[in-house]
Amino acid sequence: MSPMQRKQCLMNTVVRPDPVFVRGQGAYLYDQAGLAYLDWVQGWAVNALGHSPEVVTAALARQATTLLNASPGFYHPPLLALAEKLVSLSGMDQAFFINSGAEANEGAIKLARKWGRLHKGGAYEIITFDNGYHGRTLATMSATGKPGWDTYYPPQVPGFPKARFNDLDSVAALIGPGTVAVMLEPVQGEGGVIPASDEFLHGLRALCDRHDLMLIFDEVQTGCGRSGTLFAWQHYGVMPDVMTLGKGLGGGVPLSALLARRRHCCFEPGDQGGTFSGAPLACAVGSAVLDVLAQPAFLAQVRQRSRQLREGLEALSTRHGLGEVRGLGLLLALAMPDGGAVELVELAREHGLLLNAPRPHCVRVMPALNSTEAEIEEGLRLLDGALAMLVHPR
Ligand code: PLP
Repeated sequence: MSPMQRKQCLMNTVVRPDPVFVRGQGAYLYDQAGLAYLDWVQGWAVNALGHSPEVVTAALARQATTLLNASPGFYHPPLLALAEKLVSLSGMDQAFFINSGAEANEGAIKLARKWGRLHKGGAYEIITFDNGYHGRTLATMSATGKPGWDTYYPPQVPGFPKARFNDLDSVAALIGPGTVAVMLEPVQGEGGVIPASDEFLHGLRALCDRHDLMLIFDEVQTGCGRSGTLFAWQHYGVMPDVMTLGKGLGGGVPLSALLARRRHCCFEPGDQGGTFSGAPLACAVGSAVLDVLAQPAFLAQVRQRSRQLREGLEALSTRHGLGEVRGLGLLLALAMPDGGAVELVELAREHGLLLNAPRPHCVRVMPALNSTEAEIEEGLRLLDGALAMLVHPR
């Protein structure tokens, strides 16, 4: 087959640029021609420690030759170690592991529905938010607040009324006897990197306490050090009852987690699971990755790189007449009020920098959390070059 015909063997589920990437190392991806690209997408924030970090490859090799897989119905050391680590780091009481962010969120939704059936007279509505994102399974799509997203997939899974983000009154107005939970991202990632306000999250916590609602934080994108603290809720000092993690947790290997306070842990055997749930290989990697991410010195370094990146982006915004820089830690966006984000992503790639545009009016940057000062400088320089081409088209 020709290279084009081979590409056409794939279902048309994502817009892929031309280069075929054959290798990744640290902050860089390399294409078939040997060209290096500084990767500020990093697997959509999956590669917390960059491409093929030794921490991950060594844990994989060790575990692969010790115990590659076991039934999800058995205990094994990597599963027990990861559960203990995450529970003690998060202040939650119990954990469940699966493969993707959407599956972890499905677990959170089911946990809330069961808890509602057992303790709140069958209440099952989970208030979610306009512009929020929770995944691409049917239930998580229904929880997602993206206009036009459900055109071909009706009927929606019922029970996800939408409130306006950062608007406490719009949440309060939706609460009724059928409400069991409120679910949100502390920073809306796919929605354009929009952080919750301090006041809003504190208000939500109080509202949930008053109405005995489960507060669920989807930290699939913001968790695992991405925000500059291990979990984004630590920035706000607002602890959820239930939280989900994914992406960076496996450092490049599929792994996600559902964590909950004891009071809400109502699953019984058979309620939730999957063939790959809590598999040894993924759990061993997750533990090794967390050992790095949870170190205070590592998180301090993420915050330092975040300041450098934010200041650099602000300078570029001023120079090129763009909008605000927003986000937390190394999950930042540069707003482009006049649009052009998709074009900028392409130009940046031509300059050797990989970016992503979750919305036409902003580009998102998610470098590896262990990026060096020099790598951040290099990315800013490449972005400056791409912006110059955008403002003064060839
Ligand atoms: N939740 C949030 C906040 C996300 O950003 C994502 C993915 O971008 C998901 C859930 C879905 O995760 P996955 O793609 O691993 O299913």
